[in-house]
Amino acid sequence: TMSNEQRVAIITGAANGIGLATAQAFADAGYHVVAWDLAEAAGAELVRSIADAGKAASFASVDVSDAAAVERAAEAVIAEHGRIDVLVNNAGILRDGQLVKVKGGELVGKMGADQFDAVIAVNLKGVFTCTQAVAPHMIARKYGRIINASSVVGLYGNFGQTNYVAAKAGVIGMTKVWARELGRYGVTVNAIAPGFIATDMVKQMPAHVLEGMVAHTPVGRIGDPEDIARAYLFLADPGSGFISGTVLSVDGGMVVG
Ligand code: NAD
Repeated sequence: TMSNEQRVAIITGAANGIGLATAQAFADAGYHVVAWDLAEAAGAELVRSIADAGKAASFASVDVSDAAAVERAAEAVIAEHGRIDVLVNNAGILRDGQLVKVKGGELVGKMGADQFDAVIAVNLKGVFTCTQAVAPHMIARKYGRIINASSVVGLYGNFGQTNYVAAKAGVIGMTKVWARELGRYGVTVNAIAPGFIATDMVKQMPAHVLEGMVAHTPVGRIGDPEDIARAYLFLADPGSGFISGTVLSVDGGMVVG
């Protein structure tokens, strides 16, 4: 039922959380969604639920930190659809440092080199790898939308997240480089900086922590995955072609500090 006119959007980390809501929103908006994730059962479930809604989507088990796998998966999308209109680099992991008190009472996140490397491999290098595999196809068609998941903590920092913040700040840097490099080919590159979004991870936080976040959020609530999905969709739109190299905060006006 795929027409060659249908726009194709690759969404990484699409099996859960923000990526899942994004895959559903893009399918609703008429995109053919190609979901890349490690979570195979959840990925298959995603394809089923989109099919139940009368739309087509595909899933591939892809580790964004595996360059050869990403390259093969991108080639497979081109072989099947002949086009990639949108890449949403959404996959991400957390490996926070342990918060410990040091002399004087300050909190410091103790972090192992393995924790640092694991987060950089997925959240920073994974974005590079997927973009490198997809951008040449966008350049060839002179059209593309690349949207990268940063975070408010990539702008402001956060206790215990040296690895995650380094990656999310690095994503902003790469976004600005690629916006410069790819704009002349009709390809825009932007980042979003979500505040705290009610995925499983955030919902598990203690009530007082959640209440503290809400207290610093002018709109008075935690975000939903759909809030981020709509921001991705906006930046993916053909009509957003004069927006590039920017970081869109989607955080309810959160005040950090
Ligand atoms: P999540 O954990 O709910 O979902 C992440 C998905 O990425 C999972 O399906 C997971 O299987 C997949 N994934 C993990 N490693 C992968 C890999 N190597 N290759 C392919 N897929 C992989 O997370 P989420 O909360 O939905 O976050 C989505 C993105 O938004 C992440 O980049 C995250 O850092 C960012 N973000 C989230 C929040 C928040 O509050 N939830 C805030 C700011 C930024």
